Amino acid sequence: MSAAENHGLFDCSRLRAPRGKRFRLADRDTADTHPFKDKDAAEGYLQEGVARLAALQDTLYAQDRWSVLLIVQAMDAAGKDGTIKHVMSGLNPQGCHVVAFKTPSETELDHDFLWRSNINLPERGRIGVFNRSYYEEVLIVRVHPPILAGQMLPPSLVTKNIWKERYEDINAAERYLTRNGTKIVKVFLNVSKEEQRRRFLDRLEDKDKNWKFRAADLKERDYWKDYMKAYQEMIAATSTDWAPWHVVPADHKWFSRLAVADLLIDALERLDLQYPRVDASEKKKLEVIRRRMVGESRGKAR
Ligand code: ATP
Ligand code: MG
Repeated sequence: MSAAENHGLFDCSRLRAPRGKRFRLADRDTADTHPFKDKDAAEGYLQEGVARLAALQDTLYAQDRWSVLLIVQAMDAAGKDGTIKHVMSGLNPQGCHVVAFKTPSETELDHDFLWRSNINLPERGRIGVFNRSYYEEVLIVRVHPPILAGQMLPPSLVTKNIWKERYEDINAAERYLTRNGTKIVKVFLNVSKEEQRRRFLDRLEDKDKNWKFRAADLKERDYWKDYMKAYQEMIAATSTDWAPWHVVPADHKWFSRLAVADLLIDALERLDLQYPRVDASEKKKLEVIRRRMVGESRGKAR
């Protein structure tokens, strides 16, 4: 996609990850803020982005044909919650559905791994947000083999091909959704290990942020390399034409928020969104009702 085709606030197409061997996570700069020098330079764009999203959501909702699914994946403290909060801040809550996926419950483990996502997909006209998603099935589950062992799968189905099979199943499921009118926008908030350290320290030192700190997050930090390997492989395998991944530099929160807003705007602008048209006979009926309404107030004034 060239800059000329870009529909967003700026050209965020370079955040897109290619499928296959050409993708290398290590090549992606976590502190990049291009094309903005600093937060001040981006100020107007941040405000404009939220306003444009609100207008697009209004049409999406009224038209009631397409739905949009934003999938947010990241290491702890990369800013998932803040990004979602910011990007959704101007939207009509009735048209949004945010779901946070945590460790699966017993009921969830009694089903196939896409089940809990499927029952939480956005309806037509809505924007759904997955804060973590079925991608955890090829991330934390891959990094910690005992989690896979606890998944109640028939042993004959758990082979060395399981990750490849899960990528295939995810790609097929996402293509199916795409063909049914769900536009999928996938973002990986790419934070550095050093920036995560700073944010954890901040959570420990600032009493208002203490609640955000979980000792379990430290354990996952010890597996940083394994996670990066799992992310690298997952992104390379599931960045498809119909649902590509975007690797969003996340060391600067203001930039990742702006970039995610932009990716959503770009996706929405590409849909043929329009308010439903009222045909001639319907217009006539509306005119009759309008006259009656006007007449009612005149009647009252008398
Ligand atoms: P925050 O910490 O900002 O509240 P979070 O998404 O990190 O958000 P937590 O409750 O801290 O939420 O962690 C949820 C945990 O659940 C994560 O470690 C995640 O990897 C794990 N998880 C999510 N999906 C699965 C899954 N399918 N199988 C196993 N673990 C999962
Ligand atoms: Mg957490």
